[in-house]
Amino acid sequence: MTTPTLPDTYRALRVIQDGDERRAEFQTLPLSELPDGEVLIEVSHSSLNYKDGLAVTGKGILRQLPMTPGIDLAGIVLEDRSGTYVPGDAVILTGWGIGEQQDGGYATHARAKADWLVRQPAGLGASWAMSVGTAGFTAMLAVMALEDAGVRPKHGDVLVTGAAGGVGSTAIALLAHAGFTVTASTGRTEEEAYLRELGATNIIPRDELPSMTRPLEKERWGGVVDTVAGETLAGAYASTRTHGAVAVCGIASGIGLKTTVFPLILRGVSLLGIDSVTCPQPRREAAWKRLALDLPASRLASVTQTRGLSEVTELAPQILAGQVRGRTVIDVNA
Ligand code: NDP
Repeated sequence: MTTPTLPDTYRALRVIQDGDERRAEFQTLPLSELPDGEVLIEVSHSSLNYKDGLAVTGKGILRQLPMTPGIDLAGIVLEDRSGTYVPGDAVILTGWGIGEQQDGGYATHARAKADWLVRQPAGLGASWAMSVGTAGFTAMLAVMALEDAGVRPKHGDVLVTGAAGGVGSTAIALLAHAGFTVTASTGRTEEEAYLRELGATNIIPRDELPSMTRPLEKERWGGVVDTVAGETLAGAYASTRTHGAVAVCGIASGIGLKTTVFPLILRGVSLLGIDSVTCPQPRREAAWKRLALDLPASRLASVTQTRGLSEVTELAPQILAGQVRGRTVIDVNA
């Protein structure tokens, strides 16, 4: 491919401080405004995650202002001063603080370090990559962590909390694909058909999930993928079977965890921390390789909607209110 002509400007959704208020607005900026990084990327797609909802609604997640939110992006390399990529290479970037500590994916262009990037799996494309996004990548890390801890289908049901959300939905699909029997906990029981289609065998309404009344509850789960924390996580952890494991991913209900060490020391239960942002590169590449095999586009279709960047300010409060089902791909040119 010949070296492409670089544009002079790019268009971004920026969160700015306006008096006492933070608000998002579109700006056209010179390319020189992009942060440092060897690789210049023409972004085609991003996605909408819970963190993006916080950023766009001005809820304190952005370390400085003005800032371009968007914790995920996929696009085409225009130049790479490190020599790792050539113009035309299709890449994915999730985490590493983009959309939080430095400008992210809600823009037509981005700059990043070469060693933050992962190549898009052949034949799957940017839209697929963003349909997976941080949520699907996190779900994959959670499933891999459970497997590494020895959790197998024969050990019993795996509980997924926040099941109709992005991480939860993809965790269900990945677990079912790996042969696990999945119990989905959701506050949206109207989504039962959707959750069953993804691969959940049992559905538990969120308020019927046993909370922790004793340090050790009846053993119920072979493993847990938790996205909500708080009482839900405390109850699930106390109900995890001997030598089971709990992958702790999220804070949709709060940041608290009031519990005891008994499941750790009397049942050998493992509490596994999942951090997609700083996940080391070899683990990242392994996770994306497996996602390409286990989550083809056809499997993701029922989980995904595609919306334009112009709609993000309207969608952001909805994801915070738990009203967005599955994954939302953002077309940054629409
Ligand atoms: P979503 O908003 O798509 O999903 C969150 C789900 O949590 C909702 O759909 C809802 O599920 C449930 N939920 C919402 N509010 C409450 C509540 N008050 N009590 C109990 N459940 C609730 O977000 P994501 O799936 O993208 O992310 C989920 C969590 O994981 C977030 O906290 C996010 O910050 C975190 N996260 C962490 C990552 C990491 O690296 N550790 C990476 C990505 C996300 P339902 O409707 O089924 O009840």
